[in-house]
Amino acid sequence: MSHPTTIQVVYAERPNGGVSADSFKIISAEVADPLPGQVAIRNHYLSLDPYMRNILNTPEMIGRPLEGRVVGQIWASRHPDFKEGDWVFAMGRWEQISVVEGTAARHVNINVAPASAYLGALGFTGLTAWSGLKHYGALTAGETLFVSAASGAVGSMAGQIGKIRGLRVAGCAGTDDKVAWLTDELGFDAAFNHRTASNLTAAVSAACPEGIDVDYENVGGAVFDAVFRNMRLGGRILICGAISQYQRAPQPCVPNILDFINKRLNMRGFSVRDHAAEIQEYIDEAAAWLRDGKLKYRETIVTGIENTPAAFAKLFSGENFGKLIVDVR
Ligand code: NDP
Repeated sequence: MSHPTTIQVVYAERPNGGVSADSFKIISAEVADPLPGQVAIRNHYLSLDPYMRNILNTPEMIGRPLEGRVVGQIWASRHPDFKEGDWVFAMGRWEQISVVEGTAARHVNINVAPASAYLGALGFTGLTAWSGLKHYGALTAGETLFVSAASGAVGSMAGQIGKIRGLRVAGCAGTDDKVAWLTDELGFDAAFNHRTASNLTAAVSAACPEGIDVDYENVGGAVFDAVFRNMRLGGRILICGAISQYQRAPQPCVPNILDFINKRLNMRGFSVRDHAAEIQEYIDEAAAWLRDGKLKYRETIVTGIENTPAAFAKLFSGENFGKLIVDVR
């Protein structure tokens, strides 16, 4: 096999505060031949995720392309389960061609949904929402679910799954357009703009007049503080993420711990990594919801691998609307 080159986005410099394009460098690198058991994937789409910001706190990663989930087509295979042209999902890297172990790749069916959906609604994003609610939410129809960053990739799935499970669902998002999408398109019962609300505690209370039974927490900080004050007796707080804290040293956030006793609250952090084995079960259920129009999704697709660094910063300024993806072809 000849040795083509691939464009890579490598981690160049630790961000001083907010992440910017200067944190990365675009380079050209030779693609290694896949070894026995490996496959080379020509990536079409790259998933950009908030957790990657935490990788930039690890200086040992400097000079390397960031790891990230990809969807693409097999370009060369030395694994018996894959042949050239197959559509696959894998943990790849921020590059156009990724060589990975075949055991780490999985076929995707692009007749069920467009390939990009396997990074969002039918990927680990959706699995995060589904598994968090399933394993830690103890959902009961009629209860109130609150979702922060609700128009985002995970949040929009969590809210809709809550509706499918028969809950009353409220959430917040950072623009009026996003808020309108939640209530008008996704069926949220209430939503507000957390960036313009003058009093977050009052805004949460207005959206959830009976209080919150389940909080699907994506943001942390001031939003979480307001949600915590509105929790009901027996409430469950599911800590999925805390994006408001990723760009700076974490702010101490000490809720009134007596409320855990008085309201019998349960707070639980979880990681989708612990539920990776459930991906096919999730896809089967979510694909049926997509087909039946019960689940909708939105994507922000940025074109061109060289635009990956600028696109990544959008996650923290709220400029993405739904799942943030780069088309790297
Ligand atoms: P999103 O698509 O939700 O994008 C991030 C959004 O967060 C932005 O669009 C913005 O929306 C909002 N945001 C950014 N900064 C702030 C801030 N300072 N205050 C309030 N809102 C802010 O990303 P994902 O859906 O991929 O991720 C959502 C959360 O889920 C993250 O916290 C992530 O770390 C977590 N996660 C956790 C996983 C797990 O296994 N536990 C797995 C995957 C994700 P807006 O316009 O509404 O402000």
